Amino acid sequence: MASQVTGECLVCGTETKNRCSRYLNADIDLFFCSPDHQKLVWPLHRFFCGPGKANPWEWPPLSREEADYLLEQLPISLDLSRETQASEPDAVAIHHRSQRDMKYAQLLHSMQNDIQKATIPGQGRVAFKLRATEFLYKKRRYPTNNALMTDLSPLTFFSHIAHLLHVCERQRPWLPAYLHRLSVVALLEFEMCRTDDKAHLMSLAQYWQAPSDALIAFVRQHIVPSEPTLARTLLSFHQEVQEAVSLNIVGKLATL
Ligand SMILES: [Zn+2]
Ligand SMILES: [Zn+2]
Repeated sequence: MASQVTGECLVCGTETKNRCSRYLNADIDLFFCSPDHQKLVWPLHRFFCGPGKANPWEWPPLSREEADYLLEQLPISLDLSRETQASEPDAVAIHHRSQRDMKYAQLLHSMQNDIQKATIPGQGRVAFKLRATEFLYKKRRYPTNNALMTDLSPLTFFSHIAHLLHVCERQRPWLPAYLHRLSVVALLEFEMCRTDDKAHLMSLAQYWQAPSDALIAFVRQHIVPSEPTLARTLLSFHQEVQEAVSLNIVGKLATL
């Protein structure tokens, strides 16, 4: 008999039986009510879709293009913030017999022949931190937010947000479900920043409200009970972003 399991569509919140089929063996149920809603978030969801990526959450290794960009652009002496140093016991650093306190930019140089070998344990976490570093580095170089956003990938933007929230260090049961929801909201915000098409912006804005509310509801339901302090930080972040994005949409619509 077919499974009668239902869940809320990650995009619109509609109760549906349509699971992302790749998840049947991934130990997490993610639902999309329609191919349209799945396609809408695919540019980011594809990196985290299916076993080995979805649960436990795995950040993808650097693509060759990302690695080339970082090797070319990131000065090796860049004074990275504390968070971007490899302070935890890091399998990648050990793999390369490097010092544990090596900066990630230096680590990347030492890794350049192994960039896409996903078999190196811990490589996803290094890639995650490098993308967050890339965001900060580009932010310094670009005069306006618009110029910055057009030179980012959705994965880099999303990594920056996840990094800001300091949640990925915590191996918690709620983490994969939270990050999948956050990825949907982050992608829609990313697309809204980039588009200059009024109709497209209006349609993205309509899509964005439901998953944005659902993300806040998820924190209340699943993180508040076990980690109230962290949950307060997340809630105030998500609520402030939600208000700022609402205002930005109104402002941007007026100029298009
Ligand atoms: Zn839907
Ligand atoms: Zn999927």
